[in-house]
Amino acid sequence: MADVEAVRETGRDFIRDIVAADLESGKRASVVTRFPPEPNGYLHIGHAKSICLNFGIAGEFGGRCHLRFDDTNPAKEAQEYIDAIEADVRWLGFDWGVHLHHASDYFDQIYAWAEHLIQHGKAYVDDQSADEMRAARGTLKEGGVNSPFRGRSIEENLDLFRRMRAGEFAAGSRILRAKIDMASGNINLRDPALYRILDAPHPRTGDKWKIYPSYDFAHGQSDAIEGVTHSICTLEFEDHRPLYEWFLDNLPVPARPHQYEFARLNLTYTLLSKRILTELVRNNLVSGWDDPRMPTLAGLRRRGVPPGALREFCKRIGVAKANSLVDYAMLDFSIRECLNATSERRMAVLRPLKVVITNYPEGPGETLEAVNHPDDASKGTRSLRFGREIYVEREDFMEHPAKKFYRLAPGKEVRLRYAYFITCREIIKDANGEVTELRCTYDPETRGGNAPDGRKVQATLHWTGADAIEAEVRLYDHLFNQPAPGAGGDYTKDLNPDSRIALKGCKLEPSLAAFAQGEVVQFERQGYFCLDRDSAPGAPVFNRTVGLRDMWAKAQAKG
Ligand code: ATP
Ligand code: MG
Repeated sequence: MADVEAVRETGRDFIRDIVAADLESGKRASVVTRFPPEPNGYLHIGHAKSICLNFGIAGEFGGRCHLRFDDTNPAKEAQEYIDAIEADVRWLGFDWGVHLHHASDYFDQIYAWAEHLIQHGKAYVDDQSADEMRAARGTLKEGGVNSPFRGRSIEENLDLFRRMRAGEFAAGSRILRAKIDMASGNINLRDPALYRILDAPHPRTGDKWKIYPSYDFAHGQSDAIEGVTHSICTLEFEDHRPLYEWFLDNLPVPARPHQYEFARLNLTYTLLSKRILTELVRNNLVSGWDDPRMPTLAGLRRRGVPPGALREFCKRIGVAKANSLVDYAMLDFSIRECLNATSERRMAVLRPLKVVITNYPEGPGETLEAVNHPDDASKGTRSLRFGREIYVEREDFMEHPAKKFYRLAPGKEVRLRYAYFITCREIIKDANGEVTELRCTYDPETRGGNAPDGRKVQATLHWTGADAIEAEVRLYDHLFNQPAPGAGGDYTKDLNPDSRIALKGCKLEPSLAAFAQGEVVQFERQGYFCLDRDSAPGAPVFNRTVGLRDMWAKAQAKG
Protein backbone atom coordinates (compact mmCIF):
# COMPACT_ATOMS: atom_id res chain seq x y z
CA MET A 1 0.00 0.00 0.00
CA ALA A 2 1.08 3.54 -0.59
CA ASP A 3 3.43 5.16 1.84
CA VAL A 4 1.70 8.51 1.68
CA GLU A 5 3.71 10.00 4.54
CA ALA A 6 7.04 9.11 2.95
CA VAL A 7 6.04 10.77 -0.31
CA ARG A 8 4.92 13.84 1.58
CA GLU A 9 8.50 14.26 2.77
CA THR A 10 9.94 14.21 -0.72
CA GLY A 11 9.11 16.52 -3.61
CA ARG A 12 5.43 17.43 -3.58
CA ASP A 13 3.29 19.16 -6.12
CA PHE A 14 -0.43 19.69 -6.67
CA ILE A 15 -0.87 16.39 -8.51
CA ARG A 16 0.90 14.39 -5.82
CA ASP A 17 -1.29 16.21 -3.28
CA ILE A 18 -4.40 15.08 -5.16
CA VAL A 19 -3.17 11.49 -5.38
CA ALA A 20 -2.30 11.45 -1.68
CA ALA A 21 -5.71 12.86 -0.76
CA ASP A 22 -7.52 10.34 -2.98
CA LEU A 23 -5.67 7.46 -1.35
CA GLU A 24 -6.10 8.74 2.18
CA SER A 25 -9.81 9.40 1.77
CA GLY A 26 -10.31 5.99 0.21
CA LYS A 27 -11.67 7.54 -3.00
CA ARG A 28 -9.04 5.43 -4.75
CA ALA A 29 -7.71 2.10 -3.50
CA SER A 30 -4.51 2.47 -5.50
CA VAL A 31 -3.03 4.74 -8.09
CA VAL A 32 -2.70 3.83 -11.77
CA THR A 33 -1.14 6.28 -14.21
CA ARG A 34 0.01 6.01 -17.81
CA PHE A 35 2.43 7.67 -20.18
CA PRO A 36 0.66 7.91 -23.55
CA PRO A 37 3.02 8.82 -26.40
CA GLU A 38 1.85 9.02 -29.96
CA PRO A 39 4.45 7.06 -31.98
CA ASN A 40 4.93 9.81 -34.56
CA GLY A 41 8.41 10.92 -33.52
CA TYR A 42 11.12 10.46 -30.91
CA LEU A 43 10.67 11.45 -27.28
CA HIS A 44 12.08 14.78 -26.15
CA ILE A 45 12.93 16.29 -22.79
CA GLY A 46 9.36 17.56 -22.41
CA HIS A 47 8.20 13.96 -22.53
CA ALA A 48 10.79 13.18 -19.87
CA LYS A 49 8.92 15.53 -17.56
CA SER A 50 5.70 13.62 -18.20
CA ILE A 51 7.43 10.23 -17.83
CA CYS A 52 9.07 11.22 -14.54
CA LEU A 53 5.75 12.50 -13.26
CA ASN A 54 3.65 9.49 -14.25
CA PHE A 55 6.14 6.76 -13.39
CA GLY A 56 7.36 8.75 -10.39
CA ILE A 57 3.90 9.00 -8.84
CA ALA A 58 3.18 5.33 -9.44
CA GLY A 59 6.48 4.35 -7.83
CA GLU A 60 6.16 6.65 -4.85
CA PHE A 61 2.56 5.73 -4.04
CA GLY A 62 2.92 2.01 -4.60
CA GLY A 63 0.83 1.99 -7.76
CA ARG A 64 1.68 1.24 -11.36
CA CYS A 65 2.27 3.15 -14.56
CA HIS A 66 1.43 1.88 -18.02
CA LEU A 67 3.20 2.68 -21.23
CA ARG A 68 0.39 3.15 -23.70
CA PHE A 69 0.92 4.03 -27.31
CA ASP A 70 -1.70 6.41 -28.56
CA ASP A 71 -1.58 4.82 -31.98
CA THR A 72 -4.75 6.16 -33.55
CA ASN A 73 -3.28 7.89 -36.59
CA PRO A 74 -1.42 5.37 -38.79
CA ALA A 75 -0.79 8.07 -41.40
CA LYS A 76 1.92 9.52 -39.16
CA GLU A 77 3.04 6.60 -37.02
CA ALA A 78 5.82 4.09 -37.55
CA GLN A 79 7.48 1.10 -35.92
CA GLU A 80 10.79 2.98 -35.75
CA TYR A 81 9.17 5.44 -33.34
CA ILE A 82 7.55 2.70 -31.28
CA ASP A 83 10.92 0.98 -30.78
CA ALA A 84 12.72 4.24 -30.01
CA ILE A 85 10.11 5.29 -27.45
CA GLU A 86 10.34 1.98 -25.57
CA ALA A 87 14.14 2.17 -25.52
CA ASP A 88 14.08 5.78 -24.33
CA VAL A 89 11.65 5.20 -21.46
CA ARG A 90 13.78 2.28 -20.26
CA TRP A 91 16.94 4.31 -20.61
CA LEU A 92 15.40 7.04 -18.49
CA GLY A 93 15.10 4.39 -15.79
CA PHE A 94 11.45 3.36 -15.82
CA ASP A 95 9.74 0.03 -16.22
CA TRP A 96 6.14 -0.61 -17.20
CA GLY A 97 6.38 -4.29 -16.34
CA VAL A 98 3.64 -6.20 -18.15
CA HIS A 99 1.73 -3.01 -18.81
CA LEU A 100 2.72 -2.27 -22.36
CA HIS A 101 -0.51 -1.24 -24.04
CA HIS A 102 -1.76 0.33 -27.24
CA ALA A 103 -4.92 2.24 -28.01
CA SER A 104 -5.10 -0.13 -30.99
CA ASP A 105 -5.51 -3.07 -28.56
CA TYR A 106 -8.92 -1.57 -27.81
CA PHE A 107 -10.11 -0.78 -31.34
CA ASP A 108 -12.84 -3.44 -31.18
CA GLN A 109 -14.17 -2.12 -27.87
CA ILE A 110 -13.91 1.50 -28.93
CA TYR A 111 -15.77 0.66 -32.12
CA ALA A 112 -18.50 -1.07 -30.12
CA TRP A 113 -18.83 2.04 -27.96
CA ALA A 114 -19.25 4.18 -31.06
CA GLU A 115 -22.18 1.98 -32.09
CA HIS A 116 -23.49 2.27 -28.53
CA LEU A 117 -23.57 6.06 -28.89
CA ILE A 118 -25.32 5.76 -32.26
CA GLN A 119 -27.89 3.40 -30.78
CA HIS A 120 -28.61 5.88 -28.02
CA GLY A 121 -29.02 8.73 -30.48
CA LYS A 122 -25.75 10.31 -29.37
CA ALA A 123 -23.69 10.01 -32.55
CA TYR A 124 -24.31 10.53 -36.25
CA VAL A 125 -22.56 10.20 -39.58
CA ASP A 126 -21.85 13.55 -41.19
CA ASP A 127 -21.28 13.88 -44.96
CA GLN A 128 -20.18 17.52 -44.90
CA SER A 129 -16.77 18.34 -46.28
CA ALA A 130 -14.00 19.26 -43.89
CA ASP A 131 -14.33 22.90 -44.94
CA GLU A 132 -18.07 22.93 -44.38
CA MET A 133 -17.64 21.42 -40.96
CA ARG A 134 -15.00 23.94 -40.02
CA ALA A 135 -17.22 26.81 -41.12
CA ALA A 136 -20.21 25.41 -39.22
CA ARG A 137 -18.23 24.89 -36.04
CA GLY A 138 -18.42 28.57 -35.06
CA THR A 139 -15.82 30.55 -33.16
CA LEU A 140 -14.83 31.19 -29.58
CA LYS A 141 -17.44 33.97 -29.50
CA GLU A 142 -20.17 32.44 -31.65
CA GLY A 143 -21.85 29.10 -31.42
CA GLY A 144 -21.83 26.64 -34.30
CA VAL A 145 -24.54 25.58 -36.72
CA ASN A 146 -26.14 22.15 -36.72
CA SER A 147 -25.14 19.87 -39.55
CA PRO A 148 -27.88 19.08 -42.09
CA PHE A 149 -27.09 15.39 -41.38
CA ARG A 150 -27.59 15.70 -37.62
CA GLY A 151 -31.14 14.40 -37.79
CA ARG A 152 -30.33 11.06 -39.45
CA SER A 153 -32.12 8.08 -37.99
CA ILE A 154 -30.35 5.58 -35.78
CA GLU A 155 -30.78 2.94 -38.47
CA GLU A 156 -29.29 5.08 -41.20
CA ASN A 157 -26.38 6.11 -38.97
CA LEU A 158 -25.67 2.50 -38.02
CA ASP A 159 -25.80 1.41 -41.64
CA LEU A 160 -23.51 4.21 -42.82
CA PHE A 161 -21.07 3.72 -39.97
CA ARG A 162 -20.81 0.00 -40.66
CA ARG A 163 -20.20 0.73 -44.31
CA MET A 164 -17.52 3.26 -43.33
CA ARG A 165 -15.89 0.46 -41.42
CA ALA A 166 -16.21 -1.87 -44.40
CA GLY A 167 -14.28 0.56 -46.54
CA GLU A 168 -17.13 1.50 -48.87
CA PHE A 169 -16.40 5.23 -48.74
CA ALA A 170 -13.42 7.33 -49.67
CA ALA A 171 -11.18 8.77 -47.01
CA GLY A 172 -12.48 12.14 -45.86
CA SER A 173 -15.96 11.67 -47.35
CA ARG A 174 -17.75 11.04 -44.04
CA ILE A 175 -17.04 11.10 -40.34
CA LEU A 176 -18.80 9.89 -37.24
CA ARG A 177 -19.53 12.70 -34.80
CA ALA A 178 -20.85 12.80 -31.26
CA LYS A 179 -24.19 14.58 -31.00
CA ILE A 180 -23.61 16.93 -28.09
CA ASP A 181 -24.23 20.65 -28.47
CA MET A 182 -23.29 22.89 -31.40
CA ALA A 183 -24.06 25.94 -29.25
CA SER A 184 -21.74 24.95 -26.42
CA GLY A 185 -19.30 27.60 -25.20
CA ASN A 186 -16.66 24.86 -25.34
CA ILE A 187 -15.76 24.14 -28.96
CA ASN A 188 -14.70 20.62 -28.00
CA LEU A 189 -18.35 19.82 -27.23
CA ARG A 190 -19.64 21.00 -30.63
CA ASP A 191 -20.25 17.54 -32.03
CA PRO A 192 -16.61 16.40 -32.00
CA ALA A 193 -15.28 13.80 -34.41
CA LEU A 194 -15.28 10.21 -33.16
CA TYR A 195 -14.17 8.27 -36.23
CA ARG A 196 -12.63 9.20 -39.56
CA ILE A 197 -11.97 7.14 -42.64
CA LEU A 198 -8.28 6.65 -43.24
CA ASP A 199 -6.71 4.50 -45.88
CA ALA A 200 -3.39 3.69 -44.23
CA PRO A 201 -2.00 0.41 -42.94
CA HIS A 202 -1.51 0.40 -39.19
CA PRO A 203 1.80 -0.81 -37.67
CA ARG A 204 -0.13 -3.20 -35.41
CA THR A 205 -3.55 -3.85 -36.91
CA GLY A 206 -2.43 -3.87 -40.53
CA ASP A 207 -5.33 -3.52 -42.98
CA LYS A 208 -8.03 -4.51 -40.53
CA TRP A 209 -9.41 -1.00 -40.05
CA LYS A 210 -10.50 1.56 -42.58
CA ILE A 211 -11.67 3.92 -39.85
CA TYR A 212 -9.76 5.19 -36.84
CA PRO A 213 -10.97 6.80 -33.61
CA SER A 214 -10.03 10.38 -32.78
CA TYR A 215 -7.60 11.09 -29.95
CA ASP A 216 -10.47 12.27 -27.75
CA PHE A 217 -12.62 9.24 -28.39
CA ALA A 218 -9.78 6.78 -27.79
CA HIS A 219 -7.94 8.33 -24.91
CA GLY A 220 -10.35 8.41 -21.99
CA GLN A 221 -11.88 5.09 -22.95
CA SER A 222 -8.42 3.50 -23.04
CA ASP A 223 -7.81 4.96 -19.59
CA ALA A 224 -11.06 3.43 -18.38
CA ILE A 225 -10.29 0.00 -19.86
CA GLU A 226 -6.89 -0.04 -18.15
CA GLY A 227 -8.25 1.15 -14.81
CA VAL A 228 -6.19 4.32 -14.90
CA THR A 229 -7.12 6.46 -11.91
CA HIS A 230 -5.21 9.68 -12.58
CA SER A 231 -4.90 10.54 -16.26
CA ILE A 232 -2.28 13.27 -16.31
CA CYS A 233 -1.81 15.41 -19.40
CA THR A 234 -0.62 18.86 -20.39
CA LEU A 235 -2.62 22.06 -20.07
CA GLU A 236 -3.77 22.28 -23.67
CA PHE A 237 -6.14 19.41 -22.86
CA GLU A 238 -7.88 21.28 -20.07
CA ASP A 239 -10.68 22.30 -22.46
CA HIS A 240 -11.02 18.68 -23.54
CA ARG A 241 -11.81 17.51 -20.01
CA PRO A 242 -15.59 18.13 -20.32
CA LEU A 243 -15.56 15.92 -23.42
CA TYR A 244 -13.42 13.31 -21.66
CA GLU A 245 -16.10 13.23 -18.96
CA TRP A 246 -19.01 13.27 -21.41
CA PHE A 247 -17.75 10.03 -22.93
CA LEU A 248 -17.35 8.42 -19.52
CA ASP A 249 -20.89 9.57 -18.58
CA ASN A 250 -22.43 8.23 -21.77
CA LEU A 251 -20.66 4.91 -22.19
CA PRO A 252 -20.80 1.71 -20.11
CA VAL A 253 -17.11 1.99 -19.22
CA PRO A 254 -15.68 -0.34 -16.55
CA ALA A 255 -13.95 2.38 -14.49
CA ARG A 256 -13.92 6.10 -13.90
CA PRO A 257 -10.56 7.77 -14.50
CA HIS A 258 -10.06 11.48 -13.90
CA GLN A 259 -8.01 13.82 -16.04
CA TYR A 260 -5.59 16.31 -14.49
CA GLU A 261 -3.55 18.88 -16.37
CA PHE A 262 -0.09 20.29 -15.67
CA ALA A 263 2.13 22.80 -17.45
CA ARG A 264 4.28 21.46 -20.25
CA LEU A 265 8.01 22.00 -20.16
CA ASN A 266 9.34 24.87 -22.26
CA LEU A 267 13.10 25.38 -22.39
CA THR A 268 15.04 28.40 -23.58
CA TYR A 269 16.92 28.03 -26.91
CA THR A 270 14.90 24.87 -27.58
CA LEU A 271 11.82 23.85 -29.50
CA LEU A 272 9.83 20.97 -28.06
CA SER A 273 7.32 20.30 -30.77
CA LYS A 274 7.41 16.94 -32.50
CA ARG A 275 6.25 18.56 -35.71
CA ILE A 276 9.23 20.90 -35.74
CA LEU A 277 11.69 18.25 -34.60
CA THR A 278 10.45 16.08 -37.47
CA GLU A 279 11.03 18.95 -39.88
CA LEU A 280 14.56 19.47 -38.58
CA VAL A 281 15.30 15.81 -39.30
CA ARG A 282 13.51 15.61 -42.68
CA ASN A 283 15.06 18.85 -43.95
CA ASN A 284 18.55 17.75 -42.85
CA LEU A 285 18.94 20.72 -40.55
CA VAL A 286 20.35 18.21 -38.04
CA SER A 287 22.03 14.87 -38.65
CA GLY A 288 19.09 12.83 -37.34
CA TRP A 289 16.85 12.27 -34.34
CA ASP A 290 19.92 11.54 -32.22
CA ASP A 291 21.94 14.55 -33.34
CA PRO A 292 23.58 15.62 -30.05
CA ARG A 293 22.07 19.10 -30.46
CA MET A 294 18.53 17.73 -30.50
CA PRO A 295 16.43 17.94 -27.33
CA THR A 296 15.39 14.34 -27.90
CA LEU A 297 16.28 11.70 -25.34
CA ALA A 298 18.26 9.97 -28.11
CA GLY A 299 20.20 13.17 -28.81
CA LEU A 300 20.84 13.91 -25.14
CA ARG A 301 21.99 10.32 -24.60
CA ARG A 302 24.37 10.51 -27.53
CA ARG A 303 25.77 13.76 -26.20
CA GLY A 304 26.56 11.95 -22.96
CA VAL A 305 23.79 13.22 -20.70
CA PRO A 306 23.15 10.58 -18.04
CA PRO A 307 19.53 9.62 -17.36
CA GLY A 308 19.98 10.49 -13.68
CA ALA A 309 20.69 14.10 -14.65
CA LEU A 310 17.39 14.28 -16.54
CA ARG A 311 15.50 12.77 -13.61
CA GLU A 312 17.13 15.28 -11.28
CA PHE A 313 16.31 18.12 -13.67
CA CYS A 314 12.67 17.06 -13.78
CA LYS A 315 12.57 16.99 -9.99
CA ARG A 316 14.15 20.43 -9.83
CA ILE A 317 11.73 22.10 -12.24
CA GLY A 318 8.75 20.69 -10.38
CA VAL A 319 5.19 20.37 -11.60
CA ALA A 320 2.89 23.36 -11.72
CA LYS A 321 -0.36 24.45 -13.29
CA ALA A 322 0.98 27.64 -14.91
CA ASN A 323 3.03 27.57 -18.09
CA SER A 324 6.59 28.82 -17.75
CA LEU A 325 9.91 28.88 -19.52
CA VAL A 326 12.81 27.03 -17.92
CA ASP A 327 16.35 28.34 -18.36
CA TYR A 328 18.47 25.83 -20.29
CA ALA A 329 21.29 26.60 -17.86
CA MET A 330 19.30 24.71 -15.26
CA LEU A 331 19.55 21.58 -17.38
CA ASP A 332 23.30 22.10 -17.80
CA PHE A 333 23.57 22.52 -14.05
CA SER A 334 21.86 19.17 -13.42
CA ILE A 335 24.08 17.47 -15.99
CA ARG A 336 27.28 18.87 -14.47
CA GLU A 337 26.24 18.05 -10.98
CA CYS A 338 25.62 14.44 -11.93
CA LEU A 339 28.76 14.05 -14.04
CA ASN A 340 31.05 15.80 -11.58
CA ALA A 341 30.41 13.04 -9.09
CA THR A 342 30.85 10.11 -11.46
CA SER A 343 33.24 11.08 -14.26
CA GLU A 344 36.92 10.26 -14.22
CA ARG A 345 39.34 13.04 -15.08
CA ARG A 346 41.68 13.01 -18.04
CA MET A 347 43.73 15.55 -19.93
CA ALA A 348 43.02 16.42 -23.54
CA VAL A 349 44.43 19.24 -25.60
CA LEU A 350 41.82 20.35 -28.09
CA ARG A 351 43.83 22.94 -30.04
CA PRO A 352 47.40 21.72 -29.57
CA LEU A 353 50.49 23.90 -29.44
CA LYS A 354 53.77 22.02 -29.33
CA VAL A 355 56.15 22.74 -26.46
CA VAL A 356 59.80 21.64 -26.46
CA ILE A 357 61.41 21.60 -23.03
CA THR A 358 64.95 22.42 -23.97
CA ASN A 359 66.66 21.43 -20.73
CA TYR A 360 64.82 18.12 -20.46
CA PRO A 361 66.93 15.11 -21.46
CA GLU A 362 66.32 13.44 -24.83
CA GLY A 363 64.93 9.93 -24.58
CA PRO A 364 61.77 8.16 -23.45
CA GLY A 365 60.97 10.59 -20.66
CA GLU A 366 59.43 9.55 -17.35
CA THR A 367 56.21 8.30 -15.81
CA LEU A 368 54.12 10.51 -13.56
CA GLU A 369 51.06 9.60 -11.57
CA ALA A 370 47.67 11.29 -11.82
CA VAL A 371 44.50 10.74 -9.79
CA ASN A 372 41.37 9.75 -11.68
CA HIS A 373 38.97 11.67 -9.45
CA PRO A 374 39.88 14.41 -6.96
CA ASP A 375 37.16 13.45 -4.46
CA ASP A 376 36.96 9.73 -4.98
CA ALA A 377 40.14 7.79 -4.26
CA SER A 378 38.40 4.53 -5.17
CA LYS A 379 38.65 5.54 -8.81
CA GLY A 380 42.41 5.03 -8.55
CA THR A 381 45.28 6.57 -10.44
CA ARG A 382 46.87 6.32 -13.85
CA SER A 383 50.29 7.06 -15.32
CA LEU A 384 51.18 9.89 -17.62
CA ARG A 385 54.15 9.96 -19.93
CA PHE A 386 56.13 13.18 -19.62
CA GLY A 387 59.03 14.07 -21.88
CA ARG A 388 60.89 16.69 -23.81
CA GLU A 389 58.02 17.31 -26.23
CA ILE A 390 54.49 17.94 -25.03
CA TYR A 391 51.34 19.77 -26.13
CA VAL A 392 49.50 22.55 -24.39
CA GLU A 393 46.30 24.35 -25.33
CA ARG A 394 46.85 27.12 -27.86
CA GLU A 395 44.62 29.48 -25.90
CA ASP A 396 46.80 28.97 -22.81
CA PHE A 397 49.50 31.03 -24.47
CA MET A 398 49.59 34.71 -25.38
CA GLU A 399 52.58 36.41 -26.89
CA HIS A 400 51.41 39.76 -25.57
CA PRO A 401 49.41 38.78 -22.52
CA ALA A 402 46.31 40.77 -21.79
CA LYS A 403 45.75 42.09 -18.29
CA LYS A 404 44.86 39.25 -15.92
CA PHE A 405 46.12 36.63 -18.35
CA TYR A 406 48.14 34.46 -15.98
CA ARG A 407 48.96 31.58 -18.25
CA LEU A 408 51.92 31.01 -20.57
CA ALA A 409 53.61 34.08 -22.03
CA PRO A 410 57.21 34.99 -22.75
CA GLY A 411 59.20 34.73 -19.52
CA LYS A 412 56.19 33.46 -17.54
CA GLU A 413 56.34 30.39 -15.33
CA VAL A 414 53.32 28.07 -15.00
CA ARG A 415 52.61 24.65 -13.58
CA LEU A 416 51.91 21.66 -15.78
CA ARG A 417 49.38 19.54 -13.94
CA TYR A 418 50.96 16.52 -12.20
CA ALA A 419 54.35 17.44 -13.74
CA TYR A 420 56.66 20.45 -13.40
CA PHE A 421 56.89 24.20 -13.49
CA ILE A 422 57.93 25.42 -16.92
CA THR A 423 58.98 28.86 -18.14
CA CYS A 424 58.49 30.11 -21.67
CA ARG A 425 61.77 31.16 -23.24
CA GLU A 426 61.26 31.39 -26.97
CA ILE A 427 58.48 31.50 -29.57
CA ILE A 428 58.80 29.79 -32.95
CA LYS A 429 56.63 31.13 -35.77
CA ASP A 430 55.95 30.09 -39.33
CA ALA A 431 56.26 32.27 -42.44
CA ASN A 432 52.80 33.74 -41.73
CA GLY A 433 53.81 34.80 -38.28
CA GLU A 434 51.73 32.15 -36.62
CA VAL A 435 53.09 30.59 -33.45
CA THR A 436 53.92 26.95 -34.16
CA GLU A 437 55.99 25.99 -31.16
CA LEU A 438 57.18 27.19 -27.79
CA ARG A 439 60.59 26.57 -26.29
CA CYS A 440 60.44 26.30 -22.55
CA THR A 441 62.67 25.22 -19.68
CA TYR A 442 61.51 23.19 -16.71
CA ASP A 443 62.63 23.19 -13.11
CA PRO A 444 63.57 19.60 -12.19
CA GLU A 445 63.04 20.48 -8.50
CA THR A 446 59.28 20.92 -9.05
CA ARG A 447 58.40 17.33 -9.91
CA GLY A 448 54.76 16.64 -9.05
CA GLY A 449 53.92 20.32 -9.38
CA ASN A 450 55.31 21.98 -6.24
CA ALA A 451 58.39 24.12 -5.72
CA PRO A 452 60.51 23.24 -2.66
CA ASP A 453 61.33 26.94 -2.19
CA GLY A 454 57.61 27.64 -1.88
CA ARG A 455 57.34 29.92 -4.92
CA LYS A 456 53.95 30.13 -6.52
CA VAL A 457 52.68 30.21 -10.06
CA GLN A 458 49.39 31.73 -11.10
CA ALA A 459 48.21 29.05 -13.49
CA THR A 460 48.08 25.29 -13.82
CA LEU A 461 47.77 24.02 -17.37
CA HIS A 462 46.67 20.66 -18.71
CA TRP A 463 48.92 19.03 -21.28
CA THR A 464 49.49 15.77 -23.11
CA GLY A 465 52.70 14.00 -23.97
CA ALA A 466 54.33 12.66 -27.11
CA ASP A 467 52.26 9.47 -26.68
CA ALA A 468 48.97 11.37 -27.09
CA ILE A 469 46.34 9.82 -29.35
CA GLU A 470 44.71 11.93 -32.03
CA ALA A 471 40.98 12.43 -31.95
CA GLU A 472 38.18 14.51 -33.35
CA VAL A 473 36.33 16.46 -30.70
CA ARG A 474 32.90 17.94 -31.40
CA LEU A 475 31.79 20.96 -29.46
CA TYR A 476 28.09 21.72 -29.31
CA ASP A 477 26.21 24.86 -28.53
CA HIS A 478 22.47 25.59 -28.52
CA LEU A 479 20.83 24.61 -31.80
CA PHE A 480 19.04 27.98 -31.79
CA ASN A 481 20.61 31.29 -30.93
CA GLN A 482 17.41 32.87 -29.64
CA PRO A 483 15.96 32.16 -26.18
CA ALA A 484 12.52 31.81 -27.77
CA PRO A 485 13.22 30.35 -31.23
CA GLY A 486 10.62 31.03 -33.88
CA ALA A 487 9.13 33.98 -32.00
CA GLY A 488 9.63 36.00 -35.19
CA GLY A 489 7.62 33.46 -37.21
CA ASP A 490 10.32 31.37 -38.89
CA TYR A 491 12.34 29.22 -36.54
CA THR A 492 14.90 28.35 -39.23
CA LYS A 493 16.09 31.97 -39.07
CA ASP A 494 17.06 31.37 -35.46
CA LEU A 495 19.24 28.32 -36.12
CA ASN A 496 22.68 28.84 -34.60
CA PRO A 497 25.31 28.48 -37.37
CA ASP A 498 27.96 27.73 -34.73
CA SER A 499 26.03 25.06 -32.89
CA ARG A 500 28.51 22.37 -33.91
CA ILE A 501 32.28 22.74 -34.20
CA ALA A 502 34.37 19.70 -35.09
CA LEU A 503 38.01 19.97 -34.02
CA LYS A 504 40.42 17.54 -35.69
CA GLY A 505 43.88 16.57 -34.54
CA CYS A 506 43.15 16.98 -30.84
CA LYS A 507 45.78 15.37 -28.59
CA LEU A 508 44.35 13.10 -25.91
CA GLU A 509 45.85 11.12 -23.08
CA PRO A 510 46.31 7.57 -24.42
CA SER A 511 44.16 6.04 -21.67
CA LEU A 512 41.17 7.67 -23.35
CA ALA A 513 41.41 5.06 -26.08
CA ALA A 514 39.96 2.55 -23.60
CA PHE A 515 36.76 4.45 -22.88
CA ALA A 516 33.51 2.90 -23.99
CA GLN A 517 30.92 4.59 -26.13
CA GLY A 518 28.71 6.77 -24.01
CA GLU A 519 30.98 6.69 -20.95
CA VAL A 520 31.50 10.26 -19.86
CA VAL A 521 34.87 11.63 -18.81
CA GLN A 522 35.93 15.06 -17.69
CA PHE A 523 38.64 16.65 -19.80
CA GLU A 524 40.30 18.81 -17.17
CA ARG A 525 39.52 22.50 -17.54
CA GLN A 526 37.35 21.76 -20.61
CA GLY A 527 34.15 20.00 -19.69
CA TYR A 528 32.57 16.58 -19.95
CA PHE A 529 32.98 14.44 -23.04
CA CYS A 530 31.99 11.03 -24.29
CA LEU A 531 32.96 8.79 -27.15
CA ASP A 532 30.60 9.11 -30.10
CA ARG A 533 29.27 6.29 -32.21
CA ASP A 534 30.97 7.85 -35.25
CA SER A 535 34.32 6.64 -33.83
CA ALA A 536 36.35 4.10 -35.80
CA PRO A 537 39.26 1.96 -34.57
CA GLY A 538 42.20 4.33 -34.13
CA ALA A 539 40.03 7.32 -34.96
CA PRO A 540 38.05 8.26 -31.87
CA VAL A 541 35.43 10.98 -31.93
CA PHE A 542 34.37 12.66 -28.70
CA ASN A 543 31.28 14.77 -28.05
CA ARG A 544 31.25 17.55 -25.54
CA THR A 545 28.34 16.82 -23.24
CA VAL A 546 28.56 20.12 -21.40
CA GLY A 547 31.25 22.65 -20.57
CA LEU A 548 32.59 23.19 -17.07
CA ARG A 549 31.40 26.69 -16.50
CA ASP A 550 28.56 26.97 -14.15
CA MET A 551 26.46 29.79 -15.53
CA TRP A 552 23.33 28.88 -13.69
CA ALA A 553 24.91 28.68 -10.22
CA LYS A 554 26.61 32.00 -10.91
CA ALA A 555 23.36 33.59 -11.96
CA GLN A 556 21.66 32.17 -8.86
CA ALA A 557 24.39 33.53 -6.62
CA LYS A 558 23.99 36.98 -8.14
CA GLY A 559 20.28 36.76 -7.45
P1 ATP B 1 3.80 17.52 -29.86
O1 ATP B 1 2.70 18.41 -29.35
O2 ATP B 1 5.18 18.04 -29.70
O3 ATP B 1 3.55 16.93 -31.21
P2 ATP B 1 2.66 15.69 -28.05
O4 ATP B 1 2.61 16.40 -26.79
O5 ATP B 1 1.38 15.61 -28.78
O6 ATP B 1 3.82 16.28 -28.91
P3 ATP B 1 2.57 12.94 -27.31
O7 ATP B 1 3.31 11.81 -27.84
O8 ATP B 1 1.10 12.98 -27.49
O9 ATP B 1 3.25 14.24 -27.91
O10 ATP B 1 2.93 13.16 -25.78
C1 ATP B 1 2.89 12.14 -24.83
C2 ATP B 1 2.72 12.77 -23.48
O11 ATP B 1 3.79 13.65 -23.21
C3 ATP B 1 1.44 13.57 -23.41
O12 ATP B 1 0.79 13.25 -22.19
C4 ATP B 1 1.90 14.98 -23.44
O13 ATP B 1 1.04 15.81 -22.73
C5 ATP B 1 3.29 14.89 -22.78
N1 ATP B 1 4.15 15.97 -23.24
C6 ATP B 1 4.44 16.30 -24.51
N2 ATP B 1 5.22 17.38 -24.56
C7 ATP B 1 5.45 17.76 -23.28
C8 ATP B 1 6.19 18.83 -22.67
N3 ATP B 1 6.84 19.73 -23.39
N4 ATP B 1 6.19 18.89 -21.31
C9 ATP B 1 5.54 17.98 -20.59
N5 ATP B 1 4.83 16.96 -21.10
C10 ATP B 1 4.77 16.85 -22.43
MG1 MG C 1 -0.31 14.49 -28.29
